[in-house]
Amino acid sequence: MAPTSQEAPAAAGDPSGSTAAGTADRGLGMPLERLPGVGTARARRLERLGLVTVADALVHFPRDYRDFSGAHAVADLVEGEHASLAGDVADVRTRVTAAGRPMLTVRLACRGGHVRATWFNMPFLAKRFAVGMRAVIAGPPRRGAGGWEFAHPEVRWLVDGEADHASDWLAIYPLTDGVQQPLVRAAVQAALAHGAAAAVEAFPPDMLAAKGLLPIAEALREIHLPGDRARLDAARRRFVYQELFMLQLALRIHRGRQQARRAAPPIVVDARLDQRIRGRFPFEFTAGQRRVATEIVADMARGEPMNRLLQGDVGSGKTALAVYAMLATVATRVPGTEPVQRYQAVLMAPTELLARQHFATLTKLLAGSGVDVCLLVGGQPARARKAAAARIAAGTAHIVVGTQALLASGVRFARPGLVVIDEQHRFGVLQRAVLQQGDGDPHTLVMTATPIPRTIAHAVYGDLDVSVLDETPPGRQPVATYRVDPGQADDWWAFVARKLRDGRQGYVVVPTVDESARGLASISGAYEQLANGPLEAFRLGLVHGRLKPAQREEIMERFREGAIDVLVATSLIEVGIDVPRATLMTILDAESFGLAQLHQLRGRVARGAVQGICGALVADATTAHPRIEAFVATTDGFRLAEQDLLLRGAGDLVGTRQSGAPPLFLADLLRDTALVAEARRDALDLFQRDPLLADPSLTRIRELIEARWGATLGLGRVG
Ligand code: ADP
Ligand code: MG
Repeated sequence: MAPTSQEAPAAAGDPSGSTAAGTADRGLGMPLERLPGVGTARARRLERLGLVTVADALVHFPRDYRDFSGAHAVADLVEGEHASLAGDVADVRTRVTAAGRPMLTVRLACRGGHVRATWFNMPFLAKRFAVGMRAVIAGPPRRGAGGWEFAHPEVRWLVDGEADHASDWLAIYPLTDGVQQPLVRAAVQAALAHGAAAAVEAFPPDMLAAKGLLPIAEALREIHLPGDRARLDAARRRFVYQELFMLQLALRIHRGRQQARRAAPPIVVDARLDQRIRGRFPFEFTAGQRRVATEIVADMARGEPMNRLLQGDVGSGKTALAVYAMLATVATRVPGTEPVQRYQAVLMAPTELLARQHFATLTKLLAGSGVDVCLLVGGQPARARKAAAARIAAGTAHIVVGTQALLASGVRFARPGLVVIDEQHRFGVLQRAVLQQGDGDPHTLVMTATPIPRTIAHAVYGDLDVSVLDETPPGRQPVATYRVDPGQADDWWAFVARKLRDGRQGYVVVPTVDESARGLASISGAYEQLANGPLEAFRLGLVHGRLKPAQREEIMERFREGAIDVLVATSLIEVGIDVPRATLMTILDAESFGLAQLHQLRGRVARGAVQGICGALVADATTAHPRIEAFVATTDGFRLAEQDLLLRGAGDLVGTRQSGAPPLFLADLLRDTALVAEARRDALDLFQRDPLLADPSLTRIRELIEARWGATLGLGRVG
């Protein structure tokens, strides 16, 4: 729960009514500079954290808390680990060090012995200690020559009237360069004293009561200076609930708008068309695919746009469903057209390599069908792109496969019926909106293998319906996955060579984050090493982002045909590439990949009837690699996604940061699962009762949603 975004406070319920101009100089709008104990110089520094007014400070929420209860005894202390001790001041000394810095040393008699606390450059602090006083200090201790020492600990006096912090929990705030905890703490506490009572409540009283939520002023106090654990939890719950509720409500309003404003072409699939489409595939649909196809058909038959997220683990066969939906679309006649014209379908892929693969698959599948498939990617010669754009605009191109180049090129579709976005986590809500803002109102199907738990999908993409493909095509076996330490590398390559001799094909993936000259050197280096070393007996191919698309495509094609045994590649091949005969995967420097990425890579060799084998070579055998351990331990994408969340947090998983999806603030989607569901239900209920939020008691909720989400979701004024 690390609030990093500066937009975050409003999401958590900007109490100031930032839209209300009248508060500027009083109450919540008061500049921090004018608060006692802050002043101009410190206010300057606080600005670096985006803290200018009282309201800013109030919603600068702690990212963590430390024990400040004083409950530890000397025997409990561990070097470097936070502890908090209560004790009697036994001795107070100030002196000037050799370097000329004033130094204060306080000796405390605590349970089980004495400890020393030292501070530099804080002469005024000396006046606040006197022998015999009781105080609590908190911080990480160090074992010095004369026993345990605390350098610059937090301190709390246990004397009436002098209690700086009345809390057993010490708030730890997000900081930035040159802004330290004590400064932020002082500012927040000054802000609480000045303005907490003036904070405006978002929820009407009946809702606060029904949901058992702490009122805003109380919640603000408790989140900064918690009375006890239970009150802290209650305060946090209130803000998390508020954040999730507002987001869900905003997404629901957004969706209502879309449905109200937009009509999509009804794409009706009867039994005959269903048979005809399914007959095109060289395999039977699995039960899961049939179920999802039914869900898609039901959505598209209605006259409003489908907005569906299809989640299915790597290799579960999502492409077939995209093709199914696209064929249904292009089989549908645009009413009243003579000669008959048909709706168009678009398939967007995250990489050019994948777009070209989809194009090849579709072309093969639709040979002789009269459906015109068209490719538009950045790597095409300008002339080809122009020609494609012309066919798209004229409506003679039925199915269009492309990359982001499609968005950039400003291509107009004659009659867009369906947009399929493969691997959504590379696109965001905003790009999606761009596609939906054409002349037409296409249906949207978003596909992802990043197995986002359902609760999270709801929280982040609350405006999408979710289908889950939880079954793989028959005959698949889990990929045998190994961690390979440097000392075992020779054995691994010997093993790979043996398998290649048996007629298998494989990949070697080299981590190059960027496609800079340096990255190129490292992949060429790895290629040379393999080609002149352990894999010299085999036909190797090399693909990376610096190659011309045509060259890249040619190498991929030779690999597909079996004319290349081993493809050495960057993580370019991570997403979607489908060569069923390739069953060996070697990942170099595996620890430099994310868990989702590793799982995607492994998915490349889980596509045929032969069991895939994956080796994760780590460069450093001496340290623990929790991600690699998790990766080796399970091939279940959903389990891995949960591990991934534990290891790094939800924002990364759904890629919200790059994609412009709504950032979440306090909410920890894994821990707050139940609250996510509750907030969603309540938001939907409220929307049902009062879609315009017209009731006067909801004014504040409406304002907050407009202020926070209005621009992102294009809501304008809600009421
Ligand atoms: P992903 O869900 O990762 O995009 P793909 O759509 O690329 O997976 O499918 C993976 C592989 O499974 C492809 O080779 C595809 O042809 C095959 N496949 C898909 N559905 C079936 C099925 N019902 N029966 C057999 N093979 C299938
Ligand atoms: Mg795919």
